Amino acid sequence: MPKQRAAVLHATGPATADRLRIEERDIPEPGDGAVLLRVAACGVCRTDLHIVEGELQPHRTPLVPGHQIVGRVVACGAGVALQTGARVGVSWLGGTDGTCRYCTMGRENLCDAPTFTGYDVDGGYAEYAVARADFVHTLPDAIDDVHAAPLLCAGIIGFRALRVAGVQAGEHVGLYGFGASAHLALPVLKAWNCRVSVATRGEKHRAFAAARGADWIGGPLERPPQPLDRAITFAPAGDVVVAALGALRKGGVVAINAIHLDRMPEFDYDSLLWGEREIRSVANMTRQDARDFIALAAQIGLTSEVTVYPLERAGEALLAVKADALDGAAVIVP
Ligand SMILES: [Zn+2]
Ligand SMILES: [Zn+2]
Repeated sequence: MPKQRAAVLHATGPATADRLRIEERDIPEPGDGAVLLRVAACGVCRTDLHIVEGELQPHRTPLVPGHQIVGRVVACGAGVALQTGARVGVSWLGGTDGTCRYCTMGRENLCDAPTFTGYDVDGGYAEYAVARADFVHTLPDAIDDVHAAPLLCAGIIGFRALRVAGVQAGEHVGLYGFGASAHLALPVLKAWNCRVSVATRGEKHRAFAAARGADWIGGPLERPPQPLDRAITFAPAGDVVVAALGALRKGGVVAINAIHLDRMPEFDYDSLLWGEREIRSVANMTRQDARDFIALAAQIGLTSEVTVYPLERAGEALLAVKADALDGAAVIVP
């Protein structure tokens, strides 16, 4: 049996440099409708951290995390139309049942029986990964492996958040937090001629937002000088959601782009929600979001800022994400 190396989670707990064990494992075989990928790069998402630390209990252990996989098809199971050699991306939504009420109404992001990559099935912190062929996305040549990886969750879900918030061209949009997702959403907003205000902690993140073209930059609880039409919160903090509400115009929308919030504080309805202001949550993604975003990224020449880690240092990459120490995204190259 041919072997590969993988970074494996056995027991959840506070992230440490060796929370993930580097192990030799069998290279999996693709079943019917699946492809085997040689992993070229895998982005590190904050959700991976939530899984490793047990805030999201992994659906199985041992587990290989990672759901922003760029790879090349090296083998196909029965019934797969893809060719070996094809370069594809795998994202968080690794499969759906296709039959539940949400799938049939075109909201597969809410599927009752989804399969999430690096959560229900092994992900991309490894040399090889298996994925459902109908849930991989062909990648344009214009974007290289390492820079494509963060587009596959941080990018797609940030893009979905803009859709959920209902952003229209030319609007004033607030981004709360400026990490992997927000730094990719900002150029999309700029391409739509939006004015972008960024509220984030840390001088380093504020300087990064300035370099990416933000129109106004302040602290996480600071209010931009003009009211916002839409706001997207990326920080896993309820206080930030309340701050965003406080910055909205009447009829404005806050979209919460966090799979986990520390807590939702009490807030004053009269001043913060009345006036048809809305709070929405952003859950997962659809394949259409992925396709539309990847095409847009290629069209506008979207660039991501990445810090590369070898597989052996996957644990350190998670620590860097936890410490909010990076500009942009961490990417593992096995
Ligand atoms: Zn993710
Ligand atoms: Zn479904």
